[in-house]
This record gives sequence, C-alpha cells and structure tokens, in this order.
Amino acid sequence: MTHRITIAGADADAAFDCAPGESVLDAALRSGIELPYSCRKGVCGNCAGKVAAGDVEGVGGASTRNETCLPDELLFCICTPVSDLAIEPASWHRVDPSARKRFQAKVFRNQLVAPDVSVLQLRLPAGQRAKFAAGQYLQLGVGDGSTRCYSMANAPHESDAVTLHIRHVPGGAFSARVPGLQQGDLLDIELPFGAVALDPAATRPIVFVAGGTGFAPVKSILDDLAKKKVQRPITLIWGARKADGIYLRAAVSKWQKQWTDFRFVAAISEETQSADAEGAFAGRVDEALVAHCPDLADAELYCCGSPGMVNAVRGVAERQCALAPERFHADVFVDGPAAGPLPGTA
Ligand SMILES: Cc1cc2nc3c(=O)[nH]c(=O)nc-3n(C[C@H](O)[C@H](O)[C@H](O)COP(=O)(O)OP(=O)(O)OC[C@H]3O[C@@H](n4cnc5c(N)ncnc54)[C@H](O)[C@@H]3O)c2cc1C
Repeated sequence: MTHRITIAGADADAAFDCAPGESVLDAALRSGIELPYSCRKGVCGNCAGKVAAGDVEGVGGASTRNETCLPDELLFCICTPVSDLAIEPASWHRVDPSARKRFQAKVFRNQLVAPDVSVLQLRLPAGQRAKFAAGQYLQLGVGDGSTRCYSMANAPHESDAVTLHIRHVPGGAFSARVPGLQQGDLLDIELPFGAVALDPAATRPIVFVAGGTGFAPVKSILDDLAKKKVQRPITLIWGARKADGIYLRAAVSKWQKQWTDFRFVAAISEETQSADAEGAFAGRVDEALVAHCPDLADAELYCCGSPGMVNAVRGVAERQCALAPERFHADVFVDGPAAGPLPGTA
C-alpha cells in the first residue's frame, strides 16, 4: 500500500507518496525533494532524521538506524513507511529529478599515480556537459548490470570531462580492470548523485580529512573553493599507509600558493621512517587530527574514506576535539555495487 509522507512544518505541497517497500529517501528523490544523503546503503549516516508522526520499518527487514544516529533518529535510506508519515529531515530542498543524466563517456587519459591508484579522465560526448556540485559522485556501469560509485575529483566548471581517482581493489569487479583501460574505451556513467552538505557561504575554519582516494571529492571541493576565491582557514589532513599513497602533491602545492591560511598534514600509518623523511605525521588520520587540530569547537569538518576511517575520525572529532556533531560531514566509500538506480531513472 502506498503511504503519504509530509515534511513536518513545511508547506502542504512538501509531500510525496512512497510505494510499498520503497525507502523514504528514494521516494523523496523521485518526487524532486532532496534530503541529505550519500551512500544510500545505511552506512554514512548523512540521511539521518526524525519521524514526527507515523511508523516505519527497515527495507527488506533491515535495521532502521546505525551507530551514527542520535537516539531519536533513523536513516531515511533504509526505512520504509508502514503508515502515513510526517518526517523531520536535517534539511531539504526541491530539485529537478531530470537534471541527472546518462552519458557514454570515453577514456581520455589513464594514469597510474600510485601502485594501487589510477587517475581516470573521461570525456563526455562532443557538446555535452556534466552538471554536478563539488563533492558529488557518479555511478558507472560495470557491464554485469550493476554499477559502482565514484566521486568526481575535478571541479564542476571543468564540465566537458570527469576525473576519477580509483583505488584498485584486489579481485574487484571494476577497479581491478581499471589499469587495463585504454584511451577510447567507452564507459556508461550517470550523474550527479549525493547531496552536498557543505555551505559554500560559510566562513568558519574548515578541516578536510581524506583517506586514500577519499581525496577525490576533497580535491573537487578545494578546486571549486579556489576558483571561487573563497577565503577561510583550511586544513587538509590526507592519510595513506605509505608515502606514495599521497599521490597528488602538485594539487596541494597549488593550494598552498593560493591560500596563506592553508595547512597540509600528510599522515603515513605504516612506513613511519618515510613519514619522518617526508615531514609527515607518523600515524593514522584520526591521530593526526587530534595532534594538529585539538580544538574544533568553532570549526567544520568534512571527512571522506572507508567506513572504519570515517567512524574513527568522527569519534575523536566529537569526543576529543569538541566538534559539534552537526558540523561533521562525511562521504563514506562503502564497498560493493551501488544501491541501485533511483526510481524513474532505470
Ligand atoms: C558514494 C561512494 C563514492 C565512492 N567513490 C570512490 C572513489 O572516488 N574512488 C574509489 O576508489 N572508490 C570509491 N568508492 C568505492 C567504489 O564504489 C567501489 O566499491 C570500489 O571501487 C570497489 O569496486 P569493485 O567493482 O572493484 O569491487 P567489488 O567487486 O565491488 O568488490 C569490492 C569489495 O566489496 C565486496 N563486495 C562485493 N559485493 C558486495 C556487496 N553486495 N556488499 C558488500 N560488499 C560487497 C567484495 O567482497 C570486495 O571485498 C565509492 C563508494 C561510494 C559508496
């Protein structure tokens, strides 16, 4: 049975129908109402919100919440209504669902930038432009009917191409094939996905924490801030197991030249001797955060990487560095196939 969902406290037309078994988030996106979200798999916690009236259950019997939720919150990407609902998302706005586009993109350049990382540049068909916001991601067809998510690493104004930073997962259905992709190979992509949490007008100090290829969306956001000549204190902490995992120092040097108030910390967790030689922090990114940014009471933090790394950073940022929970933003690189096409885009 279809249920009606309204947004508590909003206009009467901020309402949409949810089909049986459909998640609250998917139903909202299908209707052109964007709630905060990233992974759509119940991991990142970005879609956490409250139900003011009505009842929900987990999609397919799953849990409705995870450890990122406050006691009265649940995750709209993994719950479905069992009655009409009034919801209280952290934020919402209207979007045009037809703005998401599919392209057949051509491999233009494929560079091995670290032993297990490729930078893949894809050109869009002539005359076509990709519209996305810094920090968003695309879904890429793997050929077996499933898709994988990859964050755009280029800034949105470079709209005739997309650049991806892809870590080779041993045995991975797509990423392990990436080193063999040749110029001219065609890939099916769809974008944009993900609701960007950062406020472009904010001026408070911002700390970016990236693990490995979690640097990709950070690069897009920083290139976008640089293009817009935004002035705010910026710290970037980029972690890798080995020094060669910090694979794009040229981008960091460019930002260091552009901004006087830009601080960079490389965190190397396994080869501590090479960390000393590189002037890097010897340890994990969460340890580097506590050492270099002990007081985040007035700051905003954006973190991107594996689920374990993001959880560790969230924990120390809030418990040891006094970061307000609502100013922690994250994109989590959850492994495996994407959550599937959004309704209406299949
Ligand atoms: C929003 C988002 C953005 C991302 N951006 C990037 C990026 O910019 N760069 C990047 O390198 N990666 C990114 N990822 C990860 C990426 O989408 C892929 O998961 C990764 O590249 C592995 O894909 P694969 O096909 O090579 O491996 P897979 O064949 O998918 O296997 C990878 C691992 O996942 C496990 N797995 C397979 N199926 C499932 C399943 N159904 N559920 C759980 N685990 C499963 C496998 O056992 C294996 O350990 C992102 C993920 C998300 C959700």
